[in-house]
Amino acid sequence: MPNDFDFASMVFNEAVMRERLEEETYLALKDTIKRGAPLGRHIATPVAAAMKDWAIEKGATHYTHWFQPLNGITAEKHESFLSPAANGGAILDFSGKELVIGESDASSFPSGGLRATFEARGYTAWDPTAYAFIKEDTLCIPTVFLSYDGDALDKKTPLLRSVQLICREALRLVRAMGREDIERIYPTVGAEQEYFLIDKELWAKRRDLVLCGRTLFGAKPAKSQELDDHYFGALDARVKAFMAELDRELWKLGVFAKTEHKEVAPGQYELAPVFSGANSAADNNQLTMEMLKRIAPKHGMVCLLHEKPFAGMNGSGKHNNWSLCTDKGENLFNPTKQPMANTLFLLLLTAVIAAVDDHQDLIRFSACSFSNDLRLGQTEAPPAIVSVFIGEQLEGILDSIRLGGGYGGSERAFISMGVEAMPRVMADDSDRNRTSPFAFTGNKFEFRMPGSSQSIADANTVLNTIAAEAFSRFAGELEKAEDKERAARELIRKEYEKHRRIVYSANCYSAQWREEAKRRGLYDLSTSVDALERSIAPENVALFSGYGIFSEREMLSRYEVSLEAYAKLAMIEARTMCEMTLKEIMPSVSRAQAELAYSIKQKRDIGMEAKAETKLLDKGSRLIEALDEAENGLEQALTQAESAAAAHDRAAVCRDSVIPSMAELRSVADALEAITPSASWPFPDYEKLLLMAP
Ligand code: ADP
Ligand code: MG
Repeated sequence: MPNDFDFASMVFNEAVMRERLEEETYLALKDTIKRGAPLGRHIATPVAAAMKDWAIEKGATHYTHWFQPLNGITAEKHESFLSPAANGGAILDFSGKELVIGESDASSFPSGGLRATFEARGYTAWDPTAYAFIKEDTLCIPTVFLSYDGDALDKKTPLLRSVQLICREALRLVRAMGREDIERIYPTVGAEQEYFLIDKELWAKRRDLVLCGRTLFGAKPAKSQELDDHYFGALDARVKAFMAELDRELWKLGVFAKTEHKEVAPGQYELAPVFSGANSAADNNQLTMEMLKRIAPKHGMVCLLHEKPFAGMNGSGKHNNWSLCTDKGENLFNPTKQPMANTLFLLLLTAVIAAVDDHQDLIRFSACSFSNDLRLGQTEAPPAIVSVFIGEQLEGILDSIRLGGGYGGSERAFISMGVEAMPRVMADDSDRNRTSPFAFTGNKFEFRMPGSSQSIADANTVLNTIAAEAFSRFAGELEKAEDKERAARELIRKEYEKHRRIVYSANCYSAQWREEAKRRGLYDLSTSVDALERSIAPENVALFSGYGIFSEREMLSRYEVSLEAYAKLAMIEARTMCEMTLKEIMPSVSRAQAELAYSIKQKRDIGMEAKAETKLLDKGSRLIEALDEAENGLEQALTQAESAAAAHDRAAVCRDSVIPSMAELRSVADALEAITPSASWPFPDYEKLLLMAP
């Protein structure tokens, strides 16, 4: 493509490799990137030398192994290229060994007990299948992060393992269906990222936003998103400048930022990239989140990646679009013009439906986090119940196979616009169902449960693994069949019959669905603690360890880490609420009460009544009492959580006591806010935050 936009100018990609490496080295590396072939050790030295020269020409002075520990963000430890020279001076150096392996005293990264403190070493190892890049004058080398014993301490390792697995099993399945022409299949991912922008000065005045990334208090304002007047609205100048800079920086890093628009809530936006392989999509999404955070302040704003910054308004998610692509560039989830006749497509579709049904609990687990729980099942977010939407046409086709009749439905239609001059537009096979957590959207699945601040590595690790399991089962059946076409149709019939309870097309936000889902025997894991508990059920541990995605130890460590994170975040929020109550809300409202009492006294002194004021004073006094009580209640819950020793118990206390106590305290404070003069309220309220929303 023409490089007018500096696209990938900071990426050590294939074009750069071809230009700067000896042919033999280049071909070996390309083979690893394209086909996952093992990389010979002798390759590292020339690659390191080429990377170093390229990076220094681009102004880099340092390098870092760039990795993704279990806290879900990226970590880096910078080293300069400088090495002492024999003559007492310095040379610029970067060896093959330094490229391939790094040692990190990483005892402060969460490990869930995998690394005892006396063995604090962690190792970072080069992931040659991801491109290195330069960020802030530093050559960043994507790496995995492992313990001394080889246990994965990061999110990338299991993702890479799962990509390898699904490549193998999907290939087996298409080959069993006679597609010998396909040599390689890999998962593609496009992660749509939602986020909020708010004014930086207002942000700085709220302890909850600064410390927790969301508002912990806030009475409902007179107007927020009721009119949908923010959705797809025109961008204001400040946001436009921000997005222009964001795009430029992302493009340089090879992140294909494509679509940007306003979302439903005031101050809410979305960025969608062009899809790529799952590993690079996960790397790119980490970079996107980092750049959003880094660039917003330059424009007087702060970017909130939190899943639920404002109560009563939309939260932010990450729509993980997922599909499978062949080495010939064929999208295997393209239904083509006649899906009814496309047995391979229907087979893959049915396998995914079966996988999601068999592993609803793991799907929910892949999107679990303390902050995402606040979003799921709330305003405009999918519920915590997992279901699949495939659209009327595909449902009709699968039903006709199941019931053994013909398909009487229509093939794809053109949308009539009533204006002859307009070009004809082909209708999608299915209209959108925005309420479904897992929707087939034309030629890919859109998994909408993951939260906006989460790494997409977990979601894709789970998707790849459970789909691979179903593919493997299907392939096993078909490999032994004589008449493949007939066997495939029979398999579709049998599996769809068994798993169609997971398919739901109507409104997933409705109360009826919750009832219906219960009747169908589907999981409703509304909290992450429950989902995490399911993740270590024996059958789930067996699934992951059987396929070599997570060993039992790794699974247990992740369970521990996630529960610890859940409890820590709940407790930080709870403490922040107590502080805001005691240091800000209580003093402010009590001052306002004193002023009110004084004016009542003055009125009475000149013989006037002050009925309304007295009523207000009474109400305020009662609420202040209630505030004090609720604050004490929250402190007690906190103490109880602090004294729980095991991670699971602490998380359970948070779920059962701390979080409900926080809700109680908030409801009293919000009621107080509603009767307190705006000028006396100690921090910017919702109205101010939203009116000033860019
Ligand atoms: P929609 O109209 O459903 O939002 P878009 O074409 O706008 O679809 O794409 C939404 C997201 O889905 C984008 O990030 C895009 O890159 C991604 N996407 C599109 N096709 C695929 C695919 N085959 N595999 C993975 N992601 C895809
Ligand atoms: Mg979408």
